[in-house]
Amino acid sequence: MVEMTKTTAAIVERCQALFDDLEFQAARQWKASRPERRVVAYMPIYVPREIIHAAGMLPLGILGAGENLEVIHGDAYYQSYICRIPRSTLELGVTGRLDFVDGFLFPSICDVIRNLSGIWKLLFPKVYVRYFDVPQNFSDGIGGAYYLEELRELRDGLAGISGAEVTDEALRASIAVYNENRRLVREVYSLRAKAPWLAPTTEVYLVMRAGMVLPVEEHNELLRDYLAAVRAEPRPERDNCRIVLNGIFCEQPPLSLIKAIEMSGCYVVDDDFTLIGRWLLEEVPLSGDPLQALASAFLHHSAETSAKYQPDAKQKGQFLIDSVRQNGAEGVIFAAPSFCDPALLDRPMLEGALDRVDVPHIGFKYAENSAQMQPVREQAGTFADSIKLWSAP
Ligand code: SF4
Repeated sequence: MVEMTKTTAAIVERCQALFDDLEFQAARQWKASRPERRVVAYMPIYVPREIIHAAGMLPLGILGAGENLEVIHGDAYYQSYICRIPRSTLELGVTGRLDFVDGFLFPSICDVIRNLSGIWKLLFPKVYVRYFDVPQNFSDGIGGAYYLEELRELRDGLAGISGAEVTDEALRASIAVYNENRRLVREVYSLRAKAPWLAPTTEVYLVMRAGMVLPVEEHNELLRDYLAAVRAEPRPERDNCRIVLNGIFCEQPPLSLIKAIEMSGCYVVDDDFTLIGRWLLEEVPLSGDPLQALASAFLHHSAETSAKYQPDAKQKGQFLIDSVRQNGAEGVIFAAPSFCDPALLDRPMLEGALDRVDVPHIGFKYAENSAQMQPVREQAGTFADSIKLWSAP
């Protein structure tokens, strides 16, 4: 019997349901189906999910609570003049929505996430909590040696939850399945850059968000289904402006903001959403010491963002210029969470880099629950119109 291709609508509907579910039912069901199963949550931007997977556990991405959760308790732990993601994440925790989580990794991005790791330890003493630090020095002998030790400690800490050693063989198998995930994610991004009318960003975003909560094997299948579905369903091409969206690597904007940008006449051809799926830019080798392979990939083949230290001032912003050129973009929209130090402190430097090569840009701020989309739509629409009218050759 010939298997029918799943439709784009059906795939996106499933992803939307996963996105909307603040009780994390898919992860709860995964865990409940076998007594030995454990779940390890992580925050943006990057943790080596391969190690969690090799320990037989489910890595679960927590990217805040979005716009559909009222933050009541979370505000009591933080001042008002910081971003919203730590407050809504705390709200998820204290309301019991994450009571099935056995471990929680807080990667090194900024002080806010670091402080959240300390609060989590105090509030949830039975959960394995780790502030996962990453090197700011990219030489093998210094940052590499340090990072390798971090990876070893993480592996041993996770083995402490499961009670079983994480073997090199299991790690290589996990690296292979995540290599495949990265390959498929890159394929979706590449398809969207070539033909953004076939894969609108609102859909691509939901498909990538599904990868935060599903087992990687299921996400790989979903990515294959999505690629097959969009290739099989013709959609009309519009005379939209091609833009790169930047600054959205941690707290996520409301879905309506992404829709507003698209509806204003912009095709997003690159972005820094859910960067964990594209953090390692090349296949991680399956031979040799797997922790060493993960460390080398982080040091020498990882994505650039405002949250990653760039020691060479001349190189600051080059990744964005490269993205504009490689994806045929006509401009950049900076969108960053309010009070996001990494994104907002870097923005003037990134704007300067774009100015030097005559790439137009605009910028605005959001919060994960901000709902005033009309001004965003007007601003992005005017930006797209001005590019079409005055920047065309
Ligand atoms: S949104 Fe920005 S400031 Fe807030 S936790 Fe994330 S990186 Fe830090």
